[in-house]
Amino acid sequence: MSADIFHFLLFFICGLIVLSNMSRENCLFCKIAAGEIASAKVYEDAVCVAFDDVSPQAPTHILIVPREHFDSLDKARENHKETLGHLLLIAGKIARDKGFAENGYRTVINTNGDGGQTVFHLHVHLLGGRPFIFPPG
Ligand code: 5GP
Ligand code: ZN
Repeated sequence: MSADIFHFLLFFICGLIVLSNMSRENCLFCKIAAGEIASAKVYEDAVCVAFDDVSPQAPTHILIVPREHFDSLDKARENHKETLGHLLLIAGKIARDKGFAENGYRTVINTNGDGGQTVFHLHVHLLGGRPFIFPPG
């Protein structure tokens, strides 16, 4: 490989790393998970943090967020399998702990534009305390 090609690849890879870290550094949910931005936390462990949504769409509206940043379900890969399963198990646990599991609840993952995603750090919405219709709007 010539020195020119080597340096081009080096700068290209460094650029990709810088860009990906920039999105993490400016990520609202990374900051909430790290405790740098305040939230009403309802649960946390080594893998995820759960906190009240600032604009609740139901009597209980909790967001469950992995500590590891990935933008959306569209960006999830094989290595995210355990984390994704964990988020759903924690949604079920919180619903039982809060006492609305038997009545029922809604879990939602909005993905990209048509899915209505507005914060690009994957998260599970846990909504409870009222009936929900299907399909959603
Ligand atoms: P999405 O639209 O991406 O599926 O969901 C993002 C959710 O994050 C929305 O329900 C919105 O109300 C919530 N949200 C946006 N900013 C904040 C914030 O600063 N704190 C909290 N707790 N929730 C937020
Ligand atoms: Zn993030």
